[in-house]
Amino acid sequence: MRLQEKGYCLETNHAKLASIDDQSPVAGRIVERVESRVKWLLVYFSGDLILLTHMLMHGSWHIYRRGERWQLPRSQMRVVITTERIEAVAFEVPVAQFHTARSLERHTSLPKLGPDILKPSFPENEAESRLRAHPDEEVANALLNQQVMAGIGNVFKSEICFACGIHPFRLVANLTPSEITCLLDTARKQLSANVLESSTEGPVTYSGGRRTHRILDAGARLWVYGRSGRTCRRCGTGILTRKQGAQARSTYWCSECQPGLDEPDGQPL
Ligand SMILES: [Zn+2]
Repeated sequence: MRLQEKGYCLETNHAKLASIDDQSPVAGRIVERVESRVKWLLVYFSGDLILLTHMLMHGSWHIYRRGERWQLPRSQMRVVITTERIEAVAFEVPVAQFHTARSLERHTSLPKLGPDILKPSFPENEAESRLRAHPDEEVANALLNQQVMAGIGNVFKSEICFACGIHPFRLVANLTPSEITCLLDTARKQLSANVLESSTEGPVTYSGGRRTHRILDAGARLWVYGRSGRTCRRCGTGILTRKQGAQARSTYWCSECQPGLDEPDGQPL
């Protein structure tokens, strides 16, 4: 997602943000990723610039298509990031700061990340106990929780659960030790493999299809993510989807390959 080269790409009434944007403009940078840590939201721009916001009680981020009507009044707007297609608007965020990776490290009130899954020294025991510390969390949510372990995004959480045959809405408390080992091993394998893939094509977990030409459909390279209503590549059952967690992120699964929780109509209980 590249920010507009010209015109207003960052609009803010936080004076400090505006002055940093003047010195080191965000225009033309790429939004590389967005990460949430409890009530903090971090937007990583290319070139080592990170926008950190805190929601406190009333703050929120909304995503709109360009020109779409906002659901909250403009007077509550604190920051707007504009790309060619979308506007990301932060309403009533009391804290908004620009950081570099270094200055972010020194930020004491920001919750620390769990171990980085891509590091060769990834401590599997520690990740397992951090996972076990969230017994009441649904598995796919726990995989997304960057304080448990850092690096798993929304696409991979569904792919990892599928690879291990684990229903994404099961609770962490009910996972067996071998299922936890599977989740951690698969996460490392899938994420490491994708570091080497060209980032323009997006993630790949399924490569059973013909890859003689460039495939643009994201769902063509994955087992379940983005494949709602299409048939499971392993068993032919229809892939299901549902929003999950406080942030209502889309989760995909196969009720046949990941059994145990679905009612006959395919909805998680
Ligand atoms: Zn299946």
